[in-house]
Amino acid sequence: MKAIYTERHRSHDPQFFLVRGVVKRTTEQPERADRLLKGLAAGHHQLIEPTAFGQGPRARVHSAEYLGFLEHAWDEWAALGDAGPEMIANIHPVRNAATYPTHIVGKLGWHTIDTACPIGPGTWEGACAATDVAATAAQLVMDGARAVYALCRPPGHHAYRDQASGFCFLNNTAIAAAHLRLAHERVAILDVDVHHGNGTQGIFYERPDVLTISIHADPVAYYPFVWGYAHERGAGPGLGANLNIPLPLGTGDDGYMQALIRAKTMFDAFAPTALVVALGLDASEHDPLAGLAVTTDGFRRIGAAIAAMDLPTVFVQEGGYLSDILGANLTAVLGGFEGAC
Ligand code: ZN
Repeated sequence: MKAIYTERHRSHDPQFFLVRGVVKRTTEQPERADRLLKGLAAGHHQLIEPTAFGQGPRARVHSAEYLGFLEHAWDEWAALGDAGPEMIANIHPVRNAATYPTHIVGKLGWHTIDTACPIGPGTWEGACAATDVAATAAQLVMDGARAVYALCRPPGHHAYRDQASGFCFLNNTAIAAAHLRLAHERVAILDVDVHHGNGTQGIFYERPDVLTISIHADPVAYYPFVWGYAHERGAGPGLGANLNIPLPLGTGDDGYMQALIRAKTMFDAFAPTALVVALGLDASEHDPLAGLAVTTDGFRRIGAAIAAMDLPTVFVQEGGYLSDILGANLTAVLGGFEGAC
């Protein structure tokens, strides 16, 4: 399987992570990509540089206002003169009627849902590189490849149309799906990250042409806490085109496979002609964010189950944090897929 990758992700190297009031080093580090690259090498996957698509794929799923904010955020922040080394909001005006602010501190709050998406000097470059990686993978699948893997970093599935959160700025998964829509009337997204793909759900919530399914740790007790419940089924023309399958914390391989059977039933009814897999590997039993308990063999089985959906497939890397098993789990899921094709 071809794998799209660029070193440009390294420009984004966030530090700040606030967990239950404690400031820690973020788990979304450049080293993640090094471990994933080892997994790709073990699976003998061919690395390809992304094509530069420019703003087009990003503008299909994000607002012009938000893209403008992200592009110029660091310069405006640095011009304050007394600001910290990363942009972290101290206001989050997300629920009440409000006016779009002109001050950078106001805009930062407007466009971020939580404190887990600090913006640094290289964030825009890294996030844009990841969207090129995702769009290139989608393009290769449109051109006839059975499946392509996109090593995207930073991840994207928590990013909404005009808001960042949870390590995510630009929604690579949604960008891949919107790109596939150029050639496919109906596209499905399967999010297997341990966290609910709330940004992706938000982007497509009222659309009937993109089916979004997310299998994740139950938000009753796990991030993002306020999205990801089973009753969220879409709205307006998109009603019925969103399925959340929350799993109890600690669910292992067998429980996970049952959720995939449910997903396949929904796919069969929707009849998409292309699939984007939001490939978080943080459902691993060894992931530091400890939510579910999927084994390496479980990831192989997940890959085989995705192959059985029998659709042209774009794998977009989402979460999966530093553990000794991270690369092996990537090898396993892609190998499981290829072995079942
Ligand atoms: Zn995740």
